[in-house]
Amino acid sequence: MSWDIIEYDEFSNCACGKGKVVRHMQQRDDDWNRSETRCLGEEIQCVDCAKKYHIEHHIRHYLCKPWKGDGISDRAFLVPNGISIPSYVGIRSFNFSEIDKEIASMYTLEEINASLNDMLTNKYTTRLKLDCSHSIVRIYNKAHKKKSLSLIVPVLENIIQNYDKYEWTPETIKEYRIRESEEIRENNKAIDETMAKSFELNFRR
Ligand SMILES: [Zn+2]
Repeated sequence: MSWDIIEYDEFSNCACGKGKVVRHMQQRDDDWNRSETRCLGEEIQCVDCAKKYHIEHHIRHYLCKPWKGDGISDRAFLVPNGISIPSYVGIRSFNFSEIDKEIASMYTLEEINASLNDMLTNKYTTRLKLDCSHSIVRIYNKAHKKKSLSLIVPVLENIIQNYDKYEWTPETIKEYRIRESEEIRENNKAIDETMAKSFELNFRR
């Protein structure tokens, strides 16, 4: 297989308008008509702007259907020397590899106690009364491919005994989310402020 390689430049206005910023691009096409482009580098070709600014990329990854793009937004800026665009702080997703941690993170002690009683009283998964009992069975089944209450009951008993040792419970996650949303607000403000002092580049061939 051979690649057809073309190199070309793209240009953007600079912040003062007297010069240009150049982006060196490379496009590779293979025998199957697949094409990929990559950036080989960027330079400020303006004497004044090169003294005052440097180039920064603000990259954000977002959830996106594959047919709508790659889920990456990449904006380039001339940022005044001495400051920098803060990186984006996103919402943390909690993933637990251990099942007890996952259950403790989703249910309060009261709910887990209620679920345990439900399991001990009703004895069969099909007879469970509480939604959280069914959901705990689903979590256990997903992890261990088993639904037997005789296996799940000891897990819940252990969680109840150690509940105060878990770092993440619905309460601590709620507190975390409050701090996190404050942090995200501050982060967005800092990003906006830096961008307002910067010049967004818009490259064209
Ligand atoms: Zn300039």
